[in-house]
Amino acid sequence: MFEREIFHTVKQKIEERRTSAIDTAEAHNLEVRALSEEIATIDAELTKTGLLLFRTACAGGDITPIRERNLELQKKRREALLSIGLPIDYTEPQFVCKKCNDTGYDGTVMCSCLREMLVLENLKASGIGKLVERQSFDNFNLERYKNQGEEAYTRMCNLFKFVKNYAENFSLQSKNLLLIGTTGTGKTHISTAIAKTVIERGFTVLYDSAQNIVASFETDRFHSGYGEYTPTANKYLECDLLIIDDLGTEFVNAFTVSCLYNLFNTRQNRGLPTIISTNLSPGELTTRYEDRIYSRIIGHDYIILQFVGDDYRLGR
Ligand SMILES: [Zn+2]
Repeated sequence: MFEREIFHTVKQKIEERRTSAIDTAEAHNLEVRALSEEIATIDAELTKTGLLLFRTACAGGDITPIRERNLELQKKRREALLSIGLPIDYTEPQFVCKKCNDTGYDGTVMCSCLREMLVLENLKASGIGKLVERQSFDNFNLERYKNQGEEAYTRMCNLFKFVKNYAENFSLQSKNLLLIGTTGTGKTHISTAIAKTVIERGFTVLYDSAQNIVASFETDRFHSGYGEYTPTANKYLECDLLIIDDLGTEFVNAFTVSCLYNLFNTRQNRGLPTIISTNLSPGELTTRYEDRIYSRIIGHDYIILQFVGDDYRLGR
């Protein structure tokens, strides 16, 4: 679900919006009272009728005449505002969201404005950044696979249906996926679309290259034992869905392999789904990484989705 820090930041943003709308309204009130003596007098009387209304209501008296006077004063005030060329709501707080008056909640239900801001912040934090504006399920072009032949086209149509359904029904019980295909076959587009959809459903998603992930573990190892240091790689072990881009482009040594093993294994044990995209074939993956990574983890627990590339007809 949405991370606590992000939630806190967004909630603060909404509160600032609300405060700013109220402050501006207050400044406008002072401004119009200085501009118009009539409004200043009306406001003074409105304060009095307001108090009187409250006292009378508490004492169980008849509030009808006071309420009528109050409405009359408000009408006069609106006219006075118009007469000095200002809109009638000039001194009202102008909230960005009229549904919740920038409180973030519509009654006890989270308002759509808060939800949308959470999605946006989570998208920014996920690592997909600007890609998300260009790449979604809606603009994935399946037609481009047609020139690869009927079989290839059908395969990509099925793959597309599968990943779209996967994203729309994502849960912590979802399977791990291995997206295989050469550069330019649509893996990144599909990964972004999955990330976007899963984030919109309220899960935490991280999207990063294998290279960055490994570098993050390296930094943590370097700093461990040197006073106060907050590890940066833990997020990869903890997010609801991790999407690893370009597995196979990172530098490989004993440390990086054990890092990746630890990453896959920990997520597996915690029941957190992972999606890996790679340009390498299963055979190449086996050669590149120790057997414990491919046979015991990827080959064992990942659903393999082969993307169709330009070299498809060459029998790859
Ligand atoms: Zn709202």
